[in-house]
Amino acid sequence: MKAQPPASHFIDGEYVEDIDGTAFASIYPATGEVIARLHAATPAIVEKAIAAAKRAQPEWAAMSPTVRGRILKRAAEIMRERNRELSELETLDTGKPIQETIVADPTSGADAFEFFGGVAAAALNGDYIPLGGDFAFTKRVPLGVCVGIGAWNYPQQIACWKGAPALVAGNAMVFKPSENTPLGALKIAEILIEAGLPKGLYNVIQGDRTTGPLLVNHRQVAKVSLTGSVETGKKVAGAAASSLKHVTMELGGKSPLIVFDDADLESAIGGAMLGNFYSTGQVCSNGTRVFVQKDIRDRFLSRLKERTEKIVIGDPMDEATQLGPMVSRAQLDKVFSYIEKGKAEGATLLTGGGIPNNVSAEGTYIQPTVFADVTDEMTICREEIFGPVMCVLDFDNEEEVIARANGTEFGLSAGVFTSDLTRAHRVVDQLEAGTLWINTYNLAPVEVPFGGSKQSGFGRENSLAALNHYTELKSVYVAMGKVEAPY
Ligand code: NAD
Repeated sequence: MKAQPPASHFIDGEYVEDIDGTAFASIYPATGEVIARLHAATPAIVEKAIAAAKRAQPEWAAMSPTVRGRILKRAAEIMRERNRELSELETLDTGKPIQETIVADPTSGADAFEFFGGVAAAALNGDYIPLGGDFAFTKRVPLGVCVGIGAWNYPQQIACWKGAPALVAGNAMVFKPSENTPLGALKIAEILIEAGLPKGLYNVIQGDRTTGPLLVNHRQVAKVSLTGSVETGKKVAGAAASSLKHVTMELGGKSPLIVFDDADLESAIGGAMLGNFYSTGQVCSNGTRVFVQKDIRDRFLSRLKERTEKIVIGDPMDEATQLGPMVSRAQLDKVFSYIEKGKAEGATLLTGGGIPNNVSAEGTYIQPTVFADVTDEMTICREEIFGPVMCVLDFDNEEEVIARANGTEFGLSAGVFTSDLTRAHRVVDQLEAGTLWINTYNLAPVEVPFGGSKQSGFGRENSLAALNHYTELKSVYVAMGKVEAPY
């Protein structure tokens, strides 16, 4: 099973290699097999990518948004035509089951190209400001060269969610995928060229935490959009601040999901499972603190255990598989260490917590895990685990649960399950998060702004709001008479 690309980087419309860069392997998490061998970008590769972007951007920015949009829409079509091939690559890159990638990864990237391609012609207009004879107008102009840095959980989606608004607004992009999942973004770059994107506008370079700073600190870069952990976010935002670059930070979370006793129980359990086990729990917006009202706690837990134990774990390429491995051995070890902490600190292990017995020993698999009797102070309830580990907590009343839900430094997402409409709105109004759901969880369609508050970041991806983060306003005052100077 190989997924070797022609070279490590894609710059100025073609694959480029520089074997002086640190060699690294791409591993298929289900078997531990090496599926590609690559090299991290050297400083020369970084310069080459930024120079290509810098050269190509002005001409692209001068095209009409309609023409730019048409190219992105064509890229969306190609992605949909090749959905199976791209989904298989995403599964190899991440270990996520094909059952998921076929509906959630390239398709969500294609949605971004389609949405931003479609709105391009109307969404980049400026304003006319009448001033009583004189007037002013505003222009929405691109920033220039934008850098995208991706996490490993949704490599193709992240490459598109950053690329689509950046490109349609007239910018060029240099994208660095996570070193754990280097393959998908290269295909996106290839497809954009095939769709008609001029060379140099979407470049992909490989590397890790030592490569990222070369991009973030580069004086010709105008903006950095990071998807990653809070720790990395602080470093990247700090580095970007030293040269006052624009930044978008899509960071981690420890989001609350609140289930009131009048909720549709099966839906609430389904939402909690999707919000903890989808993508083997490697989703930033997961509702990992599940607050269940006391009087339905026992029913909730017994159905949750029953349904969780039926999850089909196995070969990610088998369409029946519902849960694949973790992305890497390091991530698996981290999750197991949190499970040990949960046990040691007194949480009740309701189900899971071990290695499934029907999978390759070389694969980085873990059972979907639920802890009950979790309290707010426990480590597993305070820190982002980023694996399939659900914490269930009890609560008595609305006021109490809102305070506890907000008692975290994170603020990415939150959810509430209840059949009381006014309560649902009252609660979401008070929850401190950027992305919230009522009676569902983790849906992120491209039409809706996505992003966090507090330490989960700032800026928004998707929707028209994302365009604001890839453009700036130019205000032009136009005088219609003579200048009357007092001297
Ligand atoms: P990470 O922070 O370790 O790495 C993210 C990216 O940043 C990688 O490409 C990495 O190479 C790069 N990087 C690391 N240090 C850097 C530095 N100093 N300068 C520049 N780049 C640097 O995150 P991860 O482990 O790849 O992904 C998991 C994290 O991402 C979780 O915290 C998760 O919640 C978060 N995440 C957030 C969102 C969101 O939209 N809010 C989405 C997905 C993942």
